[in-house]
Order: sequence, then structure tokens, then C-alpha cells
Amino acid sequence: MNTFSRRAFLQTTRRAVTAGGVLGLGHPLLSFAAEPAPSPAEAGVAVDYYDKLGVTKIINAAGTYTALTASIMPPEVRRAVDRAALHPVRLKDLETAAGEYLAKRLQCEGALVSAGAASALTLGMAACVTVANRPQVGESIMDQIPTGVEPLKNEVIVQHAHRYEYDHALLNCGIRFVEVQTMSDYQAAFTPKTVMAHFFNAAEGGEISREEWIRVAHEHQVPCMNDAAADVPPISNLWNYTRMGFDLVCFSGGKGMRGPQNAGLLLGRKDLIAAATENNSPNSARVGRGMKVAKEQIVGMVAAVDWFLSQTDEGMEKEFRRRADTIADAVKGLPSVQCQVFVPPVANNVPHLLIRYDQQRIKIAPRAVAEELRSGTPSIELNPATGTNHASAGLPTDANTIVVGVWMLQEGEDKIVGERLRSALSKALQA
Ligand SMILES: *Cc1c(COP(=O)(O)O)cnc(C)c1O
Repeated sequence: MNTFSRRAFLQTTRRAVTAGGVLGLGHPLLSFAAEPAPSPAEAGVAVDYYDKLGVTKIINAAGTYTALTASIMPPEVRRAVDRAALHPVRLKDLETAAGEYLAKRLQCEGALVSAGAASALTLGMAACVTVANRPQVGESIMDQIPTGVEPLKNEVIVQHAHRYEYDHALLNCGIRFVEVQTMSDYQAAFTPKTVMAHFFNAAEGGEISREEWIRVAHEHQVPCMNDAAADVPPISNLWNYTRMGFDLVCFSGGKGMRGPQNAGLLLGRKDLIAAATENNSPNSARVGRGMKVAKEQIVGMVAAVDWFLSQTDEGMEKEFRRRADTIADAVKGLPSVQCQVFVPPVANNVPHLLIRYDQQRIKIAPRAVAEELRSGTPSIELNPATGTNHASAGLPTDANTIVVGVWMLQEGEDKIVGERLRSALSKALQA
């Protein structure tokens, strides 16, 4: 029974109890039948707007991809969001209380719920620009982000191998990147205009380690930020990087933590978190004004952290391996098929299933399998690394490999994915 039909059932039962006395005495069902049927709204049945709008629901065998709406909130998080939606509050009170609660639970000085990790990057950057320039420029520094920043202190040091698509989130603050490769480049890169040293936690290259990155930046009294957006589990990463010394750390709320899709965390030094907050909505003349975080998102993010901290790495890994095994069992017997469970090293650090086969024996390309699963019913999305010729996001894939992300599957979907994969591959078997 899904949540909604269960709720409807409970209400029906309650109605019967009220109308017919204690269940089992009198004739509760008879009494119920005498009442007019409740309207769907009265019965608490939600309208399915996906159906109403004609939007196809999918099985997510890919992972926490934003374009696939990433994760599904656990029931306790959904209920907390639902409840928060019932009452207005003073936003500042909620922001402050949520920040203090999260800082305590996540063992850091300060915390801010942002509108996602990309927003946390922008707000963290704005905080560093603010703190570096405020002594000379005054409070108006925040009004000047991004367009007035170029003549001010605005340099951000980054390793060449750490340049990535989320650079844009930092460039939104009017900064300039100063790229380095070697340690001596790095040491020589600090100038009076340096405001921050940025680190991409899951970068696949870069000579300088996290610890070295922090040590040198701190020798120059420059704060370091770490983008660890997709890097839980392990759960302990929520405090590992702030404890290591990063002044700011960003996480996506809607990936491994399964919070609202448009929520994230900025964790770190108290003064920087305060400056990030000043640069955020609801303040209107600020770079963060378009990154509004609603009360439902703030509460949802806090509830997701509570949920995530109630899990264990071992428990999650065991469940993901079970799903991978279920899917592997469905396709294993097919000629030339080999299955491997693979855990990427940093981002998406959970078991993924790799299915490899000989296209001389099974005459369909992995990308065509992905297309077949996409166009079938129910529609299934495989991991986008499927059939690609270069390793992606730490996954060792190639043109003969299907990649299945299992961690965002919902109950029973592992079986469906296994059956559909088996059927697509069997049909293409060389006679
Ligand atoms: C997903 C991701 C982001 C953006 O996260 P959102 O919560 O979607 O804003 C930023 N950086 C990295 C490395 C990511 O993987």
C-alpha cells in the first residue's frame, strides 16, 4: 500500500470507528456505507500532477542526476516538509536555528542551508569576497558583487585539474581564477588580491593534496573551500573536510542525503557562514537573491540530515549490493555477459553494476539498450556512462559496458530493471 492509499485507508477506518463505535462492536461497515463518500481532497488523496500533466514517471537506474530529478525524499523527510508547509515563520529565526542545529550535528562552527551545492559555492565565494574586501570597501561590498568586484580583491587560486563546470558558480561573484599545477606554482600564486583557494574534492587529477592545499593557503591567511557536493556516503565526509581544515565545504542536499532537490549545505567557519548568509536571500540587493531557500527546503534539509545520520555506511552499502546482485542475477546466464560491482573512489562512492558483453554474441550496443529501456514501459534511465568510450565520474566504462546506478532505485525496481535488461539482451542474441 503506498502512503496515500494507506492514509486513505486509515481515514476510512477512523471514520468507521467514529460512526460505528469501537471496531468490532456494532456495525462499523454498515455505518460507513451510510455516510457520503469523501471527496478525494477530504480523503487526503493528492492529485497526481505527473499524470495530470502527462509527464512520464521513470525508474532511476542512473544515479543522482539533476536532470533526472536526482533523489527521492524518504517518508520522514516528506512528512517534515509537508508539516513545515502548514505554518509561516520568521525566516531569520528558522535560518538561525537550522544553522545552529546543523553545525552541532555536523561538528562544524557554522552551517547554512542553501538552494543546492551550486548555490553553496556562489554564497561561499561571495562570503570570501566580502570578508576580504569589507575592511577597505565597507558594507557596500555586497552590493558590488559581481559587477564591481574586478578592481577589488578577487583572485581565486585553483589547480588546473580542478577547473570544472561549476566554475560558473564562483565566476558569478565577479572573481578571476589563477591556475596552478605544481606546489611551487601554488606558493607563488598568492598576491594581495587573493581571496580564496578552491578545491574540487572529486577531481581526477591535481598534484596537490587536500592537506597541502589547506596548509599553504592558511600560511597566507587565505580561506579554502572544498566542493564535496556528491561525496556522501561515507556519512563521515559531512565532518571530515571541515575537521581537516577547509574553511568552507559544500554539499548537495538532493544527492546522497536525499533531501529536497533544491537544497544544499554550506558548512564551515562561523564568520564566513555569517557573510554567506548576508549575501543570500531574503536580502534583495545580493547575489544570492535568486537562490531563495523556502521554509520547506530548510526544514527538509535538516530532516534529511537527521535521516542520513540515522543510516549506516554498512547498511546502505549492503542494500545497494543486494540490488546490484539482483540485477546481475537476471542477466548473468546470457552468453559472454560478465558482471562487476564497482564503487567509484570519491563522488557517488556507492556500488554500481557494470555489465560487459561481446557485441559479436549479443548484437546490440549498450547505448541502444539504454534507448530501448528508456522508450519502454515503465521508462528506465540507465547511467549515462553506459556505452561511453571514456571513463566517466570514476566509472571504468567503455563501448561494451552497461552501467547501472542502483542507489536511487525504489523498492522492487531492481527486479524490473533486471528483467528489462535480460529481455533487451536476449532479443539481440546471435542465433
Ligand atoms: C552536483 C554537483 C554540484 C551541484 O549540486 P546541486 O545541489 O545540484 O546544486 C556541484 N558540484 C559538484 C561537484 C556536483 O557533483
